Amino acid sequence: MTSKVPLVEDELISRVEAVRQSMADHEIDTVLLSVGHDLPYLTGYYAMPLERLTMLVLPRNGQASLVVPALEAPRVAPMPRIFDVVPWGETTEPLDLVADMCRHLSRIAVGDQTWGRFVIGLVQRLPSVEWRRAVDVIGPLRMRKTEHEIASLAAAAKAVDDIAIALQSGEIPLVGRTEAEVSADLSARILAAGHQKVNFAIVAAGENAASPHHHPGERVIRSDEVVLCDFGGTMNGYCSDITRCVVTGTIAADLAAAYEVLMNAQEIGVQAGHIGESCESVDAVTRQVISDAGYGEFFIHRTGHGIGMEEHEDPYIVDGDERVLEAGFAYSVEPGIYVPGKWGIRLEDIVVATDDGPRRLNNAPRALFSVLQ
Ligand code: ZN
Ligand code: ZN
Ligand code: ZN
Repeated sequence: MTSKVPLVEDELISRVEAVRQSMADHEIDTVLLSVGHDLPYLTGYYAMPLERLTMLVLPRNGQASLVVPALEAPRVAPMPRIFDVVPWGETTEPLDLVADMCRHLSRIAVGDQTWGRFVIGLVQRLPSVEWRRAVDVIGPLRMRKTEHEIASLAAAAKAVDDIAIALQSGEIPLVGRTEAEVSADLSARILAAGHQKVNFAIVAAGENAASPHHHPGERVIRSDEVVLCDFGGTMNGYCSDITRCVVTGTIAADLAAAYEVLMNAQEIGVQAGHIGESCESVDAVTRQVISDAGYGEFFIHRTGHGIGMEEHEDPYIVDGDERVLEAGFAYSVEPGIYVPGKWGIRLEDIVVATDDGPRRLNNAPRALFSVLQ
């Protein structure tokens, strides 16, 4: 597998072709995409999430149109093999433009994150249309990452691995700093490592680590306590996400024992990720290890989530997600054990299902390091 594949129009065109095939299978006449990640998945263009309408009108056959505010048209990289740019001026009603393109159609699918005001405006203008969610058409394709997408996820994962290693080696000062200061440090490193955007940098010390989505605050990190760091960003359109814990000094016996269980559970969860295995069964085998060791009540969230252009996307590694892993599915395996008022631990790697079995994209050491400073 090549390590870096530039995103070219050809890749976008093959995605559009796959979506059209899926539209045929689902008997969808046109897909309408606005804010959200389906639009850049097919065009490379991110709509500005504002009140002016940007909308790709993608018919099953024929050229697509990107309806875009005239003042934002210069942002669009032209893709004449995929779409025509249709700019609209300040006194035009863009929903009329879109509705005119959709007359005589019977079934239209709309992107999940399209503003309600636009969806309602379209429903009013096209009363006989049967409406569907575009996720039914595009979602299954986005779950199966292409070689280009896996290379992008791997590059982002490598970048945060290096930050995790810096954390584990004691290179990032902890004791005496606030969680917020360490979070800012991690954020700066995420950008310096080549991400364009920081998505989150959770730093939770001691008892705060028992809250899985703790917001880093003014709590000062002390000696001999656990510090949980969960961080990631977006690099060239694809997300990283890793969790590692370190202890600022002596590792207490109860924490060490729980961490052994956690590491074992995560390993079993990762190794369960074979093609044909269901998402919920990956969750179940991971959870079983933690329950068997008596910590079941302290593992209070799902085992993982899909990852790609979005930090959290389909599928979900959780009881009830019966979808079956296919080659190219990328997702996190991130069990945790959270003892309220005392401490919390989580261990997270991104995994891709491949024909040769599960492939971890994160490879920073997984042991609980004591960082003496
Ligand atoms: Zn989370
Ligand atoms: Zn995470
Ligand atoms: Zn995650």
